[in-house]
Amino acid sequence: MSDCLFCKIVEGKIPSKKVYEDEHTFAFEDINPQAPTHVLIVPKRHVVDLKEAKPEDAELIGYCQLVAAKIARQRNIENGYRTVYNVGPGAGQTVFHLHLHLLGGRPLSWPPG
Ligand code: AMP
Ligand code: ZN
Repeated sequence: MSDCLFCKIVEGKIPSKKVYEDEHTFAFEDINPQAPTHVLIVPKRHVVDLKEAKPEDAELIGYCQLVAAKIARQRNIENGYRTVYNVGPGAGQTVFHLHLHLLGGRPLSWPPG
């Protein structure tokens, strides 16, 4: 999508600190980290968010979780990390290209704010 921030990051038109890339996903450091590890995992294909997702997006949505688990293993934060899809402005979603937050490297309280 031409006017999407994360599509531009995936295409390399906007710089990012890349963490991981494969055929389906691109992962990079969040610009405003909320934990020592705060990585965003985005599908290369433009999907708006969980609310708009279609059955054919299911594999991609789950696959992002597996990428997060792989990065968590590499970062040695498997004692405790969290993966989050913020959905809708009321949950703090600001970018409307599906992205999974991976947060870890510090104690994470529950319930989240
Ligand atoms: P959300 O609030 O769930 O939509 O998450 C959007 C995230 O994208 C926020 O955590 C922002 O800090 C992050 N973000 C916004 N612009 C950039 C950027 N250019 N590079 C990396 N992360 C970004
Ligand atoms: Zn996009």
